Amino acid sequence: MKCPVCKKYNTTEKFEINSYKILDCAACGHRFTGLKLNKEDIKEIYSDNYFFEGKDGYPDYTLEKDMLTGRGEKYAEIASRFMDPGTLLDVGAAAGFLMKGFENKGWKVVGVEPNSSMAGYGKENLGLDITVGTIEEARLDITVDLVLLIQVVAHLYDLDGSMDSINRILKKRGYLLVETWDKDSFMARLLGRRWHEYSPPSTLNYFSRETIDLLMGRHGFEKISSGRPGKKLHSRHAKSLLRHKLESSKSFKWLAGFEKILPENKYIPYPSEDLFWVLYRKTGRS
Ligand SMILES: [Zn+2]
Repeated sequence: MKCPVCKKYNTTEKFEINSYKILDCAACGHRFTGLKLNKEDIKEIYSDNYFFEGKDGYPDYTLEKDMLTGRGEKYAEIASRFMDPGTLLDVGAAAGFLMKGFENKGWKVVGVEPNSSMAGYGKENLGLDITVGTIEEARLDITVDLVLLIQVVAHLYDLDGSMDSINRILKKRGYLLVETWDKDSFMARLLGRRWHEYSPPSTLNYFSRETIDLLMGRHGFEKISSGRPGKKLHSRHAKSLLRHKLESSKSFKWLAGFEKILPENKYIPYPSEDLFWVLYRKTGRS
């Protein structure tokens, strides 16, 4: 199987999850599923169930509204160290909560999202411009100063196609902000195959700080800055994820006590040692 990051054929099987093979590239260290999906599969995976029925997705995505809007504002502050507010595209925008945070800080915001209910929610309730589709297929006739890939790059089914679209849409010397999970983090290594991010077919690629740089470098981006977001999780989302883990694995029974001590309707801090962000800039070489 060809590695989607370095393009070499040197993979070994690491483990299997929900009968999907998880592969390691011996050449660059990237981990991925090798699943070939199309846009019909994507509609199925990101149906309303993903946003409202728990399991590997969300019990109710709209609970994340205030937290995500706040995070958008935080990222807008980070971006303001490098650029003035301009136009941005949020890839996998869901209901547009993150976009709203940037809008609050003076950005003109556009989104693309495969789930039509989520896009509709953002349009109707927040007045946002969100196109229904995937970045791989949507024909977006815009140019922007910044593209957001916030917890999205691991879900993209065609990395090169997506990056080509992003390069078309981004202005010369434009910026790309990526937030993703680190498969080489302490938490990921501690939990092994039980790490929450291993949830194919929703997630397809499992990056490290090195492999995300490799992918972006190959598409003409250089790293400008990086850090870790302070993450908060709604307690109902935390309970739902815990319940899903308890159902799917006997060795997680020890977690049962945690569900009882979690508050009912609050945001709780989530240790985000396994989550990081990187700001890239187009070098002009591609
Ligand atoms: Zn590779």
